[in-house]
Amino acid sequence: MIKIEPEPWAAMVSHARQTYPNECCGAMLGSINDGTKLVREAMRLENVFAGEQAARYELRPEDLLAADRAARERKLELIGIYHSHPDCDAYFSTTDLKNSCPWYSFVVLSIRKGEFDHANSWLPNMEQTEAAREELSY
Ligand SMILES: [Zn+2]
Repeated sequence: MIKIEPEPWAAMVSHARQTYPNECCGAMLGSINDGTKLVREAMRLENVFAGEQAARYELRPEDLLAADRAARERKLELIGIYHSHPDCDAYFSTTDLKNSCPWYSFVVLSIRKGEFDHANSWLPNMEQTEAAREELSY
């Protein structure tokens, strides 16, 4: 299960609303205790996808490494990645799956007409062939 504290949650929603109608993306930093992930900080990352960003995001590997480093400096861990789905459900697409990694939680925020609608968290399997829904609270 993954729990997002109010401050990072508000930051994630406002990031997703600001980039609408394009996808936003970012890193979630926090701690893991007894299998429960607690997100304590959200870090905005740039969507560097060169094409139509309304339906796709891409992270720079070095930005992800920087997020991992920032987490360690704060004695936190890089728990996962968030991104938004403008005018689309918070499902995990084939592209999302292909670009995922099995050790992170992937939170998808559905933004409809510029406003937050709903969110889901996904856990890809080792083969990146499917993702299970993870219990999410915020
Ligand atoms: Zn997606």
